[in-house]
Amino acid sequence: MTQVTKDHIIDALKTVDSGTGGLDVTARGWVQDIVIKDGHVAFALEVPPDLGPKLEPVRAQAEKAVYDLPGVLSATVVLTAEKKAAQSPQPNSGSGREQLALPGIKSIVAIASGKGGVGKSTTAVNVAVALAKLGKRVALFDADIFGPSMPRMLGLAGQKPHSDGTKVHPLENHGVKVMSIGFMVAEDNPVVWRSPMVMGALEQMLKDVDWGDIDIMVVDMPPGTGDTQLTMSQRVPLAGAVIVSTPQDIALLDARKGLNMFRKVEVPILGMIENMSHYICPSCGHREDIFSTGGAEKTAKELETDFLGDLPLDLKIRETSDAGTPIVSADPDSPHAKAYLDIAAKIAAKVDDGTTKSAPNISMGS
Ligand code: ADP
Repeated sequence: MTQVTKDHIIDALKTVDSGTGGLDVTARGWVQDIVIKDGHVAFALEVPPDLGPKLEPVRAQAEKAVYDLPGVLSATVVLTAEKKAAQSPQPNSGSGREQLALPGIKSIVAIASGKGGVGKSTTAVNVAVALAKLGKRVALFDADIFGPSMPRMLGLAGQKPHSDGTKVHPLENHGVKVMSIGFMVAEDNPVVWRSPMVMGALEQMLKDVDWGDIDIMVVDMPPGTGDTQLTMSQRVPLAGAVIVSTPQDIALLDARKGLNMFRKVEVPILGMIENMSHYICPSCGHREDIFSTGGAEKTAKELETDFLGDLPLDLKIRETSDAGTPIVSADPDSPHAKAYLDIAAKIAAKVDDGTTKSAPNISMGS
């Protein structure tokens, strides 16, 4: 198969008019951060912020020009503003945040953590599979753009979603439809995204996918509470957020930060999950409380949010997700699977019964 190169892409883009006085998009200097991986191409058009929404047709043309090149399997082009426009929230009627319109998706729930490595992705994937087992139509959106792990955890590593040039068709496994930047870049070699591009790339991924009708979309958020997380929580119409924490005090401190971030942007907190809360000895089944457990439950109470449940530190949880068969799927009768199912049922009930209200969808005006 023809190997597409940067030069081919630039040549193709020379045929795309910038829509701003005769120059093409390369002559304007807008083309940035071209990434090519096994025939999948992504890049940004860095445009003046005031022109942003008007240039959607130019973005679409650029995408088509590259997609039509021999050897290109998918093309993802995002518009980014030179001045980080996406990060300054624009006041809007009612909700105070201008949000993406995602018709067909009833509720979106963010799984978040104040810092990395607490098991947020492991929780997200197991909760998603559990929701599917409860009969929901489930999507999982991997927004952990710096360390996308969903292709591996769902047993889809190395596969590519099919694109028909306008829409990307999500891959599906264990009853869950999934989209992840990990399908385009290697997990161990993630793209070093420049911050203005992150939100653009995430939004494009969300919008370009033909999700179909979905009851609950689980979002695996990027860890931490920086600009990306804040923008994401404002731009995506979240029905609520779940905070994952480990019992160490320091992680709980981070969990509070996560919680406060969502409160600031008026996203309802559905509750907290304590991960790796205690250790079960694989040979004798003895329970060992390595850290003082129950911290998340206490913190949840203090912060007036619900405690949704806890999961032990158990090799089986890691091994099953590493193998691409989350424990809820691999061993649905195990106590761990039951714990995830119980948590998933609580989340589903909260989203369904109006304990949380979805903010109205407001289109981004393109
Ligand atoms: P995060 O998304 O917060 O960075 P991950 O979900 O990627 O964290 O988990 C980090 C590591 O810990 C992974 O190797 C994962 O398999 C492992 N892990 C997560 N939760 C558990 C658990 N309850 N028991 C054992 N290993 C776990």
